[in-house]
Parts: sequence; C-alpha cells; structure tokens
Amino acid sequence: MAMAMLRAYTGVSKVTCPRCGQALGGVNETACERCHQPLKLTVCLAEADLTAWIALIVSLCLPAGPGIIILVLYVWGQLPPIGPADISVTYVFVYCVLAVPLLLVALLGRRRFARMDQATRWHLAVPAIFATGLFALLSLAPGLGW
Ligand SMILES: [Zn+2]
Repeated sequence: MAMAMLRAYTGVSKVTCPRCGQALGGVNETACERCHQPLKLTVCLAEADLTAWIALIVSLCLPAGPGIIILVLYVWGQLPPIGPADISVTYVFVYCVLAVPLLLVALLGRRRFARMDQATRWHLAVPAIFATGLFALLSLAPGLGW
C-alpha cells in the first residue's frame, strides 16, 4: 500500500530526493536509487506550529547574550577571577555559558523540532523557559552586580 502510494506520487509529481536531489520519477523501491536513503510518503501541516520553538529560542537568547560576553572575556583572558561564589551566582554563570550551545542546537534543529509532536516540543521548551525565569530572578536579585 505505502509502496504503491509512493510510486504513484513520485510518478505524477516532479519530486526529488530530499538528500541528494535525484529525480524520483516513479521509484520502484522505498529507497532513493542514488543515495539509498529510505523514502516514505507522509502528511504534515502546511505551516508547522513553531510556537514552542520560538518560546525555546527566546528563552535561550536571554542568557546566551551574557553567555557570549562571558566566553569572549574568558578567551581573551579578561574574565575577572571568580572567587568562591554562592549557588545563585554559579547558576547564572553556568546557565549563561550553557545557553550558547543550546541556542545553536535549537536554531540548527528547527526542522527536526517542527517534525516532533506537540507534547515533545513543549517538553523541550518548558524546562528552558523555567530555567531562564530562574536566571532572570537571580540576575535581578541584589548583589549579583549586572
Ligand atoms: Zn537520494
């Protein structure tokens, strides 16, 4: 059934392999003839719901900004010595630095994120939103000196 539908679809539309660009006119297998990647016919939303992804990106941008500054200062050797810090200062610094690679992964993974189901998307976004909320509360607390 799936093979027949895939063959019918590729036979009437000028679709190419998403990986290598090979024309798939009426494929006879469930894999690309050139790159041998498995093919499947799916149904998806015309416009992916990116609300959770946008919430994730926004919540990671906030700490990633100071995180980039911390990393640049560290690379240039200009980061002031950090003595014994309390747990809130440590959390803010560590979360800022961790937010930089997390933001890159989230930005580069937009397509994969859009293919996840709604619950999984929010399971990824909500912890970042809470972590950033805690970051904001601790950053605004007196004594941190931003
Ligand atoms: Zn291919």
